[in-house]
Amino acid sequence: MEIRFLGGAREIGRSAVLVNDSLLLDFGMLTGNPPQFPVGSPDPDAVVVSHGHLDHVGTVPSLLSGDDRPPIYWTPPTYELALTLARDTLKLHGGSYRCPFTENDIKRVTEVTETHGYREPFEAAGHEVTFYDAGHIPGSAHVLVDDGDTRLLYTGDFHTDDQRLVAGTTARPDADVVVCESTYADVEHDDRDEVAEEFAQSVKTTLWEGGTVVVPAFAIGRTQELMLVCEAYDIPCYVDGMGKQVTETLRQYPGFVRDADRLRRAKSHARFVTGREGQRKRIADQKAAIITTSGMLSGGPAMTYIPEIRSNPTNKITLTGYQVEGTPGRELLETGSAEIDGRRMPVAAQVEAYDFSAHADRDGLRSFLEPYRDAELLIGHGDRCEAFAAELRETGYDASAPELGETRRL
Ligand SMILES: [Zn+2]
Repeated sequence: MEIRFLGGAREIGRSAVLVNDSLLLDFGMLTGNPPQFPVGSPDPDAVVVSHGHLDHVGTVPSLLSGDDRPPIYWTPPTYELALTLARDTLKLHGGSYRCPFTENDIKRVTEVTETHGYREPFEAAGHEVTFYDAGHIPGSAHVLVDDGDTRLLYTGDFHTDDQRLVAGTTARPDADVVVCESTYADVEHDDRDEVAEEFAQSVKTTLWEGGTVVVPAFAIGRTQELMLVCEAYDIPCYVDGMGKQVTETLRQYPGFVRDADRLRRAKSHARFVTGREGQRKRIADQKAAIITTSGMLSGGPAMTYIPEIRSNPTNKITLTGYQVEGTPGRELLETGSAEIDGRRMPVAAQVEAYDFSAHADRDGLRSFLEPYRDAELLIGHGDRCEAFAAELRETGYDASAPELGETRRL
């Protein structure tokens, strides 16, 4: 087997791995200014996508812009989320270098799609492929690829602990080679229930004091997780941005969430914002939590809410995910002010951060890899892939961190 790393090697974003020059695993986008896309202009015979996050699926429609029509394999929720993301990218950046595909390419995605559930082997570009539940977001998969000689496990993003929205991964299929993510290789998460408890008490305190809490959250996974927390703690909440549509989508796939009934209750507990007739400005005065995109304050309805609530120190902003360097969210955490919608704004409202991660931490990664002591480990999707690979080597693993564009023969 030959594997080429076209993205997500010693970095987070634009994940893409080409197997035997024919089967492409993921084709993501690294958001930023400018955005970055996978290298190498691959021409695959088939595409397999691990899950519906932008950094794994964001560039997929561009594979259909030429004469070739490779089939695309994914789980049903991943397919739906990919379409939602593609349409959003087209709406925001269509016609510019930031959107490497057209409406027509997105239409072609709907023509070449083939969905598969977990543990149902199928054939793709001459390889046997099987999805296993990765416990990251609904529909997320570990991808096992067998070319007849070598079994490759591409972990995708995964979590070993249960979240409210999805249960942690338990699948450990036999493999000769593991391409493993390492997002939180140097982090130990606090106990998730304690994080939820702290978050809930902090939000409630602000509401008792008469304040409003803006909860910036990623649309896919995080928004629904926070809706579940708000329902469990009876926190009045609004939901705004792309997370609304994603919630509706996920409700169509009860088999891919941990507790469909709980998600239904969380949905009826929350109020979805239409944004019509100044509704956002009115909501910004209410004693409620507002769960809204974008999670790093780089766009979305959060751009309306933050200016409205920022000058009152009774109000609060609770960041709920990883804040990439250079984003307004990161800047706000570190300096207490941020550039929102092109304007520098000091923020008197309280700013807090909570770790609701959907990735395995250091211990989770280690426990996941324990059954793969005899396999070759290729570490990617992280800010310190080489360091983590070195740590694994010290404990007896055969581990390394491929470079961007590198080809490995196995
Ligand atoms: Zn992900």
